[in-house]
Amino acid sequence: MANIAGKVPGRFLGYAFCVGDLLLELDKDYKVLNADGAVKSTLGITPDQSFCFLDLLTEKGAGIITSAAKTLTGANRLGPFMVSVGGEGAVRERYSIFMSKLPHAPDELYIVLSKPYRLGQKESSNVSSTVSPAQLEENKAEFFERLEDLFEGNPEAEDNMQVTVIEAGEGERLDTGQQRDLENYLKSFSVGGSHAAMLANDKFAFVHERKEGSEKVDYVETIKKATGVALEAATINAADANLSEKDSMRALAFSLQQFADGSDGFDVSEIAAKSDELIGGTAERVRAFRKVLDEGAFSLVYQPIVNLKSNDVHHYEALARFDLPEMISSQWEMIRFAEDVGLILEFDKAVLYRTIRKIRELGNVGETPSIAVNISGRSLSDTEFKLDLVATLKGNKDLKRYLSIEITESAKISDLDSLGEVLSEIRNEGFRVYLDDFGAGASGFQYLKKLQIDALKIDGDYVRNATESKEDRAFLRSMVTLCRDLGIVTVGEWVETKEHAELLRSMGVDFGQGYYFGKPNAGLVMPKAKAS
Ligand code: C2E
Ligand code: MG
Ligand code: MG
Repeated sequence: MANIAGKVPGRFLGYAFCVGDLLLELDKDYKVLNADGAVKSTLGITPDQSFCFLDLLTEKGAGIITSAAKTLTGANRLGPFMVSVGGEGAVRERYSIFMSKLPHAPDELYIVLSKPYRLGQKESSNVSSTVSPAQLEENKAEFFERLEDLFEGNPEAEDNMQVTVIEAGEGERLDTGQQRDLENYLKSFSVGGSHAAMLANDKFAFVHERKEGSEKVDYVETIKKATGVALEAATINAADANLSEKDSMRALAFSLQQFADGSDGFDVSEIAAKSDELIGGTAERVRAFRKVLDEGAFSLVYQPIVNLKSNDVHHYEALARFDLPEMISSQWEMIRFAEDVGLILEFDKAVLYRTIRKIRELGNVGETPSIAVNISGRSLSDTEFKLDLVATLKGNKDLKRYLSIEITESAKISDLDSLGEVLSEIRNEGFRVYLDDFGAGASGFQYLKKLQIDALKIDGDYVRNATESKEDRAFLRSMVTLCRDLGIVTVGEWVETKEHAELLRSMGVDFGQGYYFGKPNAGLVMPKAKAS
């Protein structure tokens, strides 16, 4: 039997046999030059005959190997690909195949074949159960983290790298085996072999080098040939966004997120046709919000929160106002976008500092107002932000009676325990914590168990419907009872009419906020109800 140990560096052999059953050295026409392992009994070939490796494969397998070989550079290693291998007279068996080239022999191809169980994989690729949503979330989080690291550690990444998104063609449905194979396949194409992931069922993304002209790889064709799966793909250029490195990365991540979520206009065919427009649109919004941040181009308006028993203003809520770019229709939408794109942390900090200044300024010339600031649950899931916030509050402890925090968008926070910890820290410093929009989205009673808060703001939708709907009234009543038992103050949002106010009062809700008492206003005005 031919032995390649003399030609191939021993170190490579050692690595290869850690996972491999067979090791083959092929020439550029896939002829077997050398082989090691139980070649005769497993592959049914005699190694000294001149044999084309592709003859041992199915058409699909040959497609995988030849198209993957085209992308081997000597610096990357490809695989594992699941391929059936076997010569005439031998039973075809599925193997995991790794491929590489070695610097000393650029025309030769080294192939390691392993039984899938050695890699902890199942023999069959036809596993029909679907990938769990938790696993997909993990995939996504890991992909975005790596993407961020890639861009952060490499100032040229934006110009040199591209992200291609891939979706199964219309009517195609991949089983988990195919999904895994495709993910592995994309990983092997990707920068460093790890920048690829399935972001949603049958939707993938991978980061690769930008190649132009004849060097350009037609990934769809290559992958289709390799896997037999019809795909659609589109390549997104972060550089087209013309933003700072970090903001391009944000625009890119946002677009990918939209693609994964199946948002309108972000399926592959749309991305392909409108890639520049979509990322350009995202970039424009990022740019508009960046301006808000860098130039402090926002103002605050204040809306009173009124004690329903005494009709006195208890405190005000600070609400942000800024110029909206054309494609955004409300402040709310812009804030949600800032959350999705990761810019809300900077904004929340800016609003907090400005509010502290406002309280001090007014306190110096008259009565000190009490103001609640909105802080996004997203911001509070960032460690640095939390440290900064607690330090700021500690440094302004003398304002603890005048400054409070409203936690918005907490429904999107999965780690309630760590949110609970920071809320406790804030309260330990003596500042009050309100939980905003309770009852909206997925926020529910487990929040009250896990989060120590001073007050709950009941989502405006419940208040609005309560006058007509028995169910909403029942919900409100049970919430009020529960809060009273827990020692939590309740605030009803969107009190637009006298009926709303009276209903809430009769149910025992403590405070009300809404147009009936006063619209958000640049000045800290006394409420209508008090004045009349
Ligand atoms: P929110 O914190 O729940 O604020 C209450 C929203 O309800 C405000 O909308 C307010 O104008 C509106 N509102 C008040 N009374 C009534 C009423 O009687 N009827 C109706 N229909 N609406 C009423 P706005 O100012 O557009 O803010 C929307 C959301 O944007 C806020 O909801 C909050 O989640 C977010 N937001 C605003 N400013 C900031 C901020 O500085 N930081 C953060 N993180 N989020 C903010
Ligand atoms: Mg609020
Ligand atoms: Mg609210």
